[in-house]
Amino acid sequence: MRSHNRLVVFLVAGMVLGVSAASHAWNSPGHKVNASIAYRQLDEATRAKVADALKAHLAYAELWARRSSNGPDERLNLFYNASVFPDDARGGQWSKYGRSPAHYVNFRIMFAEGNKVLPPLDGENVLNSYLAHLRQVKDRKILAEDRALHLTWIFHQAGDVHMPLHAVARFSKALPEGDRGGNSVRFPSPRGSGGRGSNLHAYWDGLISGDDDPTVIEKVAEELISEYPREGFTAELARTSIGEWGEESVTTCLKAVYRDLDPEITTFADAPVEYETEGMSVALCRGMGWQMS
Ligand SMILES: [Zn+2]
Repeated sequence: MRSHNRLVVFLVAGMVLGVSAASHAWNSPGHKVNASIAYRQLDEATRAKVADALKAHLAYAELWARRSSNGPDERLNLFYNASVFPDDARGGQWSKYGRSPAHYVNFRIMFAEGNKVLPPLDGENVLNSYLAHLRQVKDRKILAEDRALHLTWIFHQAGDVHMPLHAVARFSKALPEGDRGGNSVRFPSPRGSGGRGSNLHAYWDGLISGDDDPTVIEKVAEELISEYPREGFTAELARTSIGEWGEESVTTCLKAVYRDLDPEITTFADAPVEYETEGMSVALCRGMGWQMS
């Protein structure tokens, strides 16, 4: 059985990084591991149906079909590419399909009020955006290419909302405007990278995996399924709405992500002892969460 320690070493050894800007939620390998686990749980007919729907996507011929990070299974490649498209649309030629606020929601954790959690402010967020995409996908009259586009968001947002720091902003004296889901907290990267990756948000983005190679993605997915079998997710399986997944992420932030981190400290030279090991376990469970629902 795969041990957490082995994966920690794996990450610390500085394997090739997935491209992961500060606010992407799970990095590219993380999203693809999610997609792979979902793929494995579908029957052949459903896989084919989803793959056919995704083939109508505007980026299929130009970006997805010839991507160097693709693996040998063409259907699975569609799932991979769907899961990362909203990040591809953050800039460049696909940017008109990108929506930055649709990647996260800010439940506000008020440290000075005993970690009281305030609801998000009005406006677009991952919760209401996901529900809107879901409605569109179910619309029988929608164009195939539009349905495919909405599907990519559903793939991606179901992953994003399970990244705990995509559901919160923590407010303190040191961070009166909030910590932007950990983006404003300097934190050592488990992958040893510097620059924009060295913050608390990026740390969590990269915990599932840092390697975009499809062989590694499949290996991680397989090991996760074996280490965290479906039977262990009874409570999670009962929660089927994205609102509940967001609330789970808030709880995870309070219990694990922020647990040992003083909210008045904005630069950490080292992660607290045991943070990496415990964080890995939480991240892997969260990574398993969405396709179980
Ligand atoms: Zn995202």
